[in-house]
Amino acid sequence: MYSDFVKYGRMLWEAGLIHLTSGNISMRKGPVLYVTRTGSLLGDLTPSDIVSVNLENTLRDKGASSETPVHRAIYLANPEIGAVVHAHPPHATALSWDYEVIRPIDSDSLYIPEIPVLLDCPYGEGSTCVAQHFPQILGKHTVAMIRGHGAFSVGKDIRQATARISMMENQCRLLFFRRLLEKK
Ligand SMILES: [Zn+2]
Repeated sequence: MYSDFVKYGRMLWEAGLIHLTSGNISMRKGPVLYVTRTGSLLGDLTPSDIVSVNLENTLRDKGASSETPVHRAIYLANPEIGAVVHAHPPHATALSWDYEVIRPIDSDSLYIPEIPVLLDCPYGEGSTCVAQHFPQILGKHTVAMIRGHGAFSVGKDIRQATARISMMENQCRLLFFRRLLEKK
């Protein structure tokens, strides 16, 4: 599992889906969540950057990502989910200010037709507010945005969750360019 954290963390960094200290990854194994450490560099993870916490409570959360409550809430509401990725994809985040639902127009809209945008959580309130809203949203969608902040994606495993956030950012990049060209 550690090698998957390293592999997909590096991919998120190299694809420009995070800045150096942003983003977090988790995987669920039964009653345990494995989450990246707060402040860790996803592009250069080491074994000590992976923290194991309890699915059911916060007793072992020390050192884990500050977004751990969001990850936990998503898993508790959706038992089929095996991995969650949080990233800061720039084109999707740029679009998030102007849409309540981003509707991609490219061929991958067959897979991701809608990207809901969470509007209700001010920047300072962080993960408690997001944890209240995202479990339900990510029960119906595979990716979703927090306005002006970033994205969460889910999957049965880390490969699927990372692929979804990558696809979504590419869709948003295309939509972003299309909107620019339309203005000419
Ligand atoms: Zn974030």
